[in-house]
Amino acid sequence: MIIHLKKEIPTAEAKQIAHNLEAIRYYNGTHEILITPSATKTLHPDIIAKSDGHWVMDTDIQLASRNYSDTLREIKWGTTTIGGTSKNTPVIAGPCSIESWEQIEESAKLLVSLGITTLRAGCFKPRTSPYSFQGLELEGLKMLAEVRKQYHLNIITEVKDSSHVDAVIEYADIIQVGAKAMYDQSILRRCGEARKPVLLKRGFGTTLQEFVQAAEFILSGGNEQVILCERGIRTFETKTRFTFDLCGAAYLKFHTNLPVILDPSHAMGYAYGVPDLAKASVAFGCDGLLIEVHPTPKLAKSDASQQLDHPTFKQLFEEMKAIAAAVGRNLI
Ligand code: PEP
Ligand code: MN
Repeated sequence: MIIHLKKEIPTAEAKQIAHNLEAIRYYNGTHEILITPSATKTLHPDIIAKSDGHWVMDTDIQLASRNYSDTLREIKWGTTTIGGTSKNTPVIAGPCSIESWEQIEESAKLLVSLGITTLRAGCFKPRTSPYSFQGLELEGLKMLAEVRKQYHLNIITEVKDSSHVDAVIEYADIIQVGAKAMYDQSILRRCGEARKPVLLKRGFGTTLQEFVQAAEFILSGGNEQVILCERGIRTFETKTRFTFDLCGAAYLKFHTNLPVILDPSHAMGYAYGVPDLAKASVAFGCDGLLIEVHPTPKLAKSDASQQLDHPTFKQLFEEMKAIAAAVGRNLI
């Protein structure tokens, strides 16, 4: 439950009310907000009694909803801004997994040559099989830190479980919570305490309601910087890896105040379809794209079939720029 305290409430009084309710308290720039896990039954009668100027919201989707705030959230990392009034559509690109220094350096050089600011690469890979490549883990994070420094790139990398969530928060510019990890509440709660943007990917069996509720775990922890990412859901169709849910993305854009990024790579699962879906995503007006790119896709240790090679990606990037301009957006 969220309780918005009236603007003029003295800090000491806000603190006392928060203490009484065991609530998280934060200031959103205009007024004090208390977030309490308790339902109305534990709400102190004083608050109900003194409710002029305070208001209470008691629905499952609160902070992310346009009913709470119709102002779109602006999210920044490095020199990149998305959401709010910005028309930016950053392309976040890079390999599925970091595999070696040579591989990540080549990826970094590609991004720099195109003026792209944000490199993606997983270190802790949530693989379906324990016998597949599991990622370079901490060694990978350290390489990403080095590439970040040498190439002035921002880094997004994913957290797989709570054992390394703090390391990812420390090294990444954007914390990625993947489709499989998005139900892990220890990760979500820790991300709520972080003060860095979190890219939350929709699980492939996750309803839109559940997806936004997962975002609420982060937002209600006091982290305002949540980006939603549609990456394909599982349907009856098996010819493609997943089904790209643009209807869902339209729902999120209409009903929430969070930026929505689209990931055609994981949705399609095959490189041949990724450029068309990426272009459709730009025309859709998404707040950014996540595209997997690898110097030699067929040798990739994870998601080999869907990663674009560098020449294909370069051409796609130019084509997407033209589409972005046509729909009044700025592809960066
Ligand atoms: C990824 O981005 O490489 C990844 C594992 O994505 P998802 O969580 O969407 O499967
Ligand atoms: Mn991947």
